[in-house]
Amino acid sequence: MIHKKFGSFSLSDEIQKALGVLDYEIPTEVQERVIPMALEKKDLIVKAKTGSGKTAAYAIPICEAVDWLENKPQALILTPTRELAVQVKEDFTHIGRFKRIKAAAIYGGHPFAIEKTELKQKTHVAVGTPGRVMDHIRKGTLPLSKISCLVIDEADRMLDMGFIDQVEEIIKELPEDRVTMLFSATMPQAIKDLSLNDRRVPVQIDIQEDSSVTADIDHSLFITSEEDKFELLTDITIMENPDSCIIFCSTKDRVDLVWERLKQMNYHPQKLHGGMEQTDRISAIRRFKRGQFRYLIATDVAARGIDVDDISLVINYDIPLEAETYVHRTGRTGRAGRKGNAISLATPSQDRFVRQIEAFIGFPIKERAGYEKSCVAQARLNFDKKIKAAPEIKQLKSDQLNKGIMKLRFNAGKKKKFRATNFVGVLSNLEGMSAEDIGIITIQDTLTYVEILNGKGSKVLEMMSHTTINGKQLKVTKALDKY
Ligand code: AMP
Repeated sequence: MIHKKFGSFSLSDEIQKALGVLDYEIPTEVQERVIPMALEKKDLIVKAKTGSGKTAAYAIPICEAVDWLENKPQALILTPTRELAVQVKEDFTHIGRFKRIKAAAIYGGHPFAIEKTELKQKTHVAVGTPGRVMDHIRKGTLPLSKISCLVIDEADRMLDMGFIDQVEEIIKELPEDRVTMLFSATMPQAIKDLSLNDRRVPVQIDIQEDSSVTADIDHSLFITSEEDKFELLTDITIMENPDSCIIFCSTKDRVDLVWERLKQMNYHPQKLHGGMEQTDRISAIRRFKRGQFRYLIATDVAARGIDVDDISLVINYDIPLEAETYVHRTGRTGRAGRKGNAISLATPSQDRFVRQIEAFIGFPIKERAGYEKSCVAQARLNFDKKIKAAPEIKQLKSDQLNKGIMKLRFNAGKKKKFRATNFVGVLSNLEGMSAEDIGIITIQDTLTYVEILNGKGSKVLEMMSHTTINGKQLKVTKALDKY
């Protein structure tokens, strides 16, 4: 296949610029097929997996279509998990950075009142889990009248988690004159049967599984007893000495247990499971992405949708009982053309699960014998050296986009009838400034936050201390939080 460049789609300069900074040069297959259709406002049912670039496949055309001046949400994205909602929101913020697109994430476990305030301000794109989205709809805090695009992401997962009825309820509330895009890794009948929009016939797009997904990963297996598992786990970590590693366990209690024991052994591990506070979960993922710690012990909360580059080792401390889960878990390593390593532990009685996985992935998993103790002892030196050293902090692609941004805080907002256009008007007329240097504007009741891009924040701060907006001299300071 000849790969096009993003330049061959009719995308605005603002979006192309953001893609350039994010290093998205060649569209992935799903992007190549979805973007032109979505730009033509076709309804789509897309079979594509996490890791295929599906988020950008819908986020790019949506960002392109957003009308910045409209204050009410124009697109609604439904995701099965809170983590994915936050990640998708961040993807919209990055892709829409130069168009100043404002996305809000709304999900259970996050303070409702904060979301309500955020939705009252200018919000172009709302991303949320079905339950919380329905809550907002019922309470009238999520205006739907301007929604012209609905995305149902990871629809099969919604089905597995029992959210599909809520999704159908939400669909009924939306304006009929809208585009609907559904993305799903598999297409069970219940998904095919979903009535998305009676008035439109969706185009089906099927992205073939990329066999290299698993081929880039070295898969191996240890058969062990439950009693010996933990020691084998530590042997594996010593021998492999990974820079970043996820250890998957079957339940949150098992995660707690492994985390506790590794903590005592000074691995500085972090954990991730559904029983944790939402903020702790999000923070664990953020810090893992940055490489601030090496070992993440997790349940399947982390197996899907979470996009962390460059995980050198995935360990299945507990072999997954479903073959598909195995693919999702191990798919966390060997991403973006890098070599991955996936090691699973199974007890002799779990043999049938191993066979099922092998049948599903289409090749046998190499079985390994335990390590010689002398080899482990030898490798220990290097391991100890690394574990004592601070990990190397990773630069994220989005850092490039966030570089040079200063957020300014003005002491007036909605109550004094200030609008985003007032700020854009004045700021873009300052010497050396243009509309392109202005980022996201957040207007609250009594405050306004404006992002100034391209390293021009300090200059604008100085100029605005003696420049009026709407005939008023506002107090302007640098906001404490950057984002
Ligand atoms: P997703 O399937 O949406 O979870 O995306 C998987 C990963 O691919 C994410 O890290 C994206 O940032 C990255 N990505 C998406 N599109 C492109 C592209 N065209 N070129 C390079 N990376 C991409």
